[in-house]
Amino acid sequence: MSITDMDAGGSERAAEAALRPKVLDEFVGQETVRTQLSLVLKAAVGRGTCPDHVLLSGPPGLGKTTLAMIIAGEVGSALRLTSGPAIQHAGDLAAVLSSLQEGDVLFIDEIHRLARTAEEMLYLAMEDFRVDVMVGKGPGATSIPLPLPPFTVVGATTRAGLLPAPLRDRFGFTGHLEFYDAPELARIVTRSAGLLEAELTKDAALELASRSRGTPRIANRLLRRVQDWAQVNGTGVLDLEAARSALAVFEVDELGLDRLDRSVLEAICTRFAGGPVGLSTLAVSVGEEAETVETVAEPFLVREGLLVRTPRGRAATPLAFSHLGLTPPADTLFGP
Ligand code: ADP
Repeated sequence: MSITDMDAGGSERAAEAALRPKVLDEFVGQETVRTQLSLVLKAAVGRGTCPDHVLLSGPPGLGKTTLAMIIAGEVGSALRLTSGPAIQHAGDLAAVLSSLQEGDVLFIDEIHRLARTAEEMLYLAMEDFRVDVMVGKGPGATSIPLPLPPFTVVGATTRAGLLPAPLRDRFGFTGHLEFYDAPELARIVTRSAGLLEAELTKDAALELASRSRGTPRIANRLLRRVQDWAQVNGTGVLDLEAARSALAVFEVDELGLDRLDRSVLEAICTRFAGGPVGLSTLAVSVGEEAETVETVAEPFLVREGLLVRTPRGRAATPLAFSHLGLTPPADTLFGP
């Protein structure tokens, strides 16, 4: 397993839960989304109504689930969690919706992966607070409207562009989460170290921050590995030496690139002469799903100027070649 894999296992989820900020004021960075969300929530609480439905988009690990929990907490409501892939049929969604209590916040992760029939049911539920339950089959089938109490949907997606327009339009507020900068990530790991009762030096916090792919989930995960290293090999203090040594053990490079990032870049540089190469070919060549390459690896590589998306596919930049210690062939997209 790579240290920066995005799929958290069970113990990983428990560790993450312990570090989640509980209120908006503890949520670091994302000023724009925080300000807008704070306004939406305060206004709703003032009116004594449910907040409008909220859509959160952005790469994995940037705080979408955390924000959903904060939203429920700030308005004093219960949070119900589900996800697009967990809802295979409209009936699955009907079961979730019909068990909602007034004011509940329903978090739907990966909402772009909802089954089409469930999507249609969700539009209606979000707009009119009702579901039409089909009873019977064939010509005798009838639909019985079932009213729902007012509730708030918080949808999370790594790909807002994949959401059909009618569903996107049902959200009163859309927040796009951006990668975090190093000072913000340093604040996040410093806060987390406090919760883990670990002593983290300032330079170690900055080192972790600059090698976390702009992602709090990775920053917190690296922090725990540095804590492991300091406990086993060091003095127990999470200092620069502990940080650098742990990062070396877990193969996180100076830019924070992980196994998937590097294999994507290596494939483009060495197998496809720098590109451009189509997304699906690239995904096959690194043994991953196209969606994983596109949503997990690519956004950060593009942001770091290592990869570009062109109409003909993905291409590596000269920076990617030099980062991997390779010489670009003369006829790359960026060739002389
Ligand atoms: P997503 O749902 O976008 O994949 P999560 O909300 O699960 O991401 O966040 C992953 C981890 O990162 C959680 O442990 C959370 O505590 C931490 N985290 C995310 N954003 C922030 C933030 N702005 N401030 C502090 N911690 C954060």
